[in-house]
Amino acid sequence: MDRLIDVLRNKGYKITPQRRAVITALSECGQFPTAQQILEHVKQTNPDVSLDTIYRNLSLFVELGIVHEIQTCNQDGNRFEMVTTGHHHHVICLDCGKVQCLHFCPISSAEIEKVEENGFAIVSHSLEFYGYCQECRAAGQ
Ligand SMILES: [Zn+2]
Ligand SMILES: [Zn+2]
Ligand SMILES: [Zn+2]
Repeated sequence: MDRLIDVLRNKGYKITPQRRAVITALSECGQFPTAQQILEHVKQTNPDVSLDTIYRNLSLFVELGIVHEIQTCNQDGNRFEMVTTGHHHHVICLDCGKVQCLHFCPISSAEIEKVEENGFAIVSHSLEFYGYCQECRAAGQ
């Protein structure tokens, strides 16, 4: 969490109480909170905060690479994760929106080289897997 604040400071961003509250919420809301859950948490200390402000701060953090946004394709909306570990991917349940980290990368450097044949110098990639979790599969039977 302090590392995130350092990144913001080094990039010249002010650490406003709201920004600090969003970062605290990200670390205290459990794994993969939605923007709505972050809002509820931030409201405990900053009652006037709006969902708009939460989204604005989250997208700044995503842009700075300190927060990862996980597209869930679920009605609860996307989920957010603080970037604390190295490069990794996620598997997402289309039914309940559950997210799990996958601690391996299925993309090889040979594949990246193939992409670079298009004239791009690739610096990063993102990849999520969608399906149905064990519980949802059991419930659907
Ligand atoms: Zn599920
Ligand atoms: Zn993750
Ligand atoms: Zn990867």
